[in-house]
Amino acid sequence: MSSWIISDALVVPMTERRSFTGHVRIRDGVITAVDAGTPLKSDDSEKIIDGAGCVLMPGLVNAHTHLYQVLLRAVWEDLELMPWLKRIYGCARVLRPDHFYTGSLFGCVEAIRSGVTTLCEHNFLNPSPECAFETIRAIKDSGLRSVFARTIMDAGEIVPDCTKEKPEQAFRRIEEILAHHARGEQLQFMTGPNTPPINTTPRLLKEIRGFADDKALGISAHVAESKSVVECVRREHGKSGVVEFLQQFDIPGSNSIFAHSVHISKDEIGLLKQTGSSVSHNPVSNMMLGDGVAPVVEMLRQGVNVALGTDGAASNHSQDLFDTMKAASLLHKVHHQDAGVIDPYSVLRMATAGGAKALGLDSICGTIEVGKRADLILVDMNTIHNQPVNDVFSQIVHCAKASDVRTVMVNGEILMRDRKLTRHDDAKLMADARQANSDLMKRVNQLSF
Ligand SMILES: [Zn+2]
Repeated sequence: MSSWIISDALVVPMTERRSFTGHVRIRDGVITAVDAGTPLKSDDSEKIIDGAGCVLMPGLVNAHTHLYQVLLRAVWEDLELMPWLKRIYGCARVLRPDHFYTGSLFGCVEAIRSGVTTLCEHNFLNPSPECAFETIRAIKDSGLRSVFARTIMDAGEIVPDCTKEKPEQAFRRIEEILAHHARGEQLQFMTGPNTPPINTTPRLLKEIRGFADDKALGISAHVAESKSVVECVRREHGKSGVVEFLQQFDIPGSNSIFAHSVHISKDEIGLLKQTGSSVSHNPVSNMMLGDGVAPVVEMLRQGVNVALGTDGAASNHSQDLFDTMKAASLLHKVHHQDAGVIDPYSVLRMATAGGAKALGLDSICGTIEVGKRADLILVDMNTIHNQPVNDVFSQIVHCAKASDVRTVMVNGEILMRDRKLTRHDDAKLMADARQANSDLMKRVNQLSF
């Protein structure tokens, strides 16, 4: 593996609220030095990437997405969660493994192009076992670091039979995935109930924590995304909230990540803190579906670890975390009618170190530190909309765009340099995605919802 020096950049390590002009040295995928000033080459094998005019920061961590949904951008618009979900779930009847491969790879590349180096793919549609395998193959082919959360649905009127699984059947299929793929720093796995309680039985919830612990898997779940989910938990289970409901099954925990957590009480935030659970905040998706505003400010005040996610492109339209960072900042300021309620450093932390912690990868990535893997991005600040630079944290969150990301490195491997992908070709990817979309939409249009 190559040795690199990224020189003369404005380094934003995200270990604390500071930045400095300096360099980062990388050997065999590991950060070996982070220093101010211009470095001297230690030997001829070191290659230099000139970071002048750029911010050098940890790659972004997208803590919650459904990659294949890039094929379903802007298909079901202006719908609330339940009718929208009915279509998303119903689509399982016509999705094939090759749609998952093409869509997921396309989603990964959109992520790379917007500065993401790690993502958590929350998988929930499994009409055949190959669908998960093809998604994992696509993520591996992209070069991204990832957590594949293979979740389960075993109940629910809107869940088609083809993707409903008995717990033991789903556990067996997950074991097959684990047997087939080596787990390591590049690829980790989680499981979880997809959207409790609307598509899970109490039996699944009783069994899933034991299964997860037995296999050393974290848990990813959609939690309290809309009022309708909370109404369901009250009506059918006599609990006041989804987190409180999940607590009886021991689902919250230090290796659990709850996407959304929009409609949760103060006591439930306390429960998240007490159990060490993390939350993936997905503000663009929440706004698009009219879900509400997650109490992120209160979570941060209580010390809950919060990450950022785009969610799938069917409810976000993109895989762009720069968009999501700006949306998060503005949403909470206007919601609280208080401009000082959230600051840019906290937002950027959610998109880097907070995400890494939520996915159990904080010893590997999320900050620029000696000993961590080289998951780094260079963001070009030498553009009209980024100049002059007065507050780098505010300007990364509020001014920079995904298209300013020049270079992306994962594990010391360059996946994009000066906007050019190293593993893939944009034109071919777009042609493949258009073809997959046209095929999928012909099949979708034959469905009735
Ligand atoms: Zn989601």
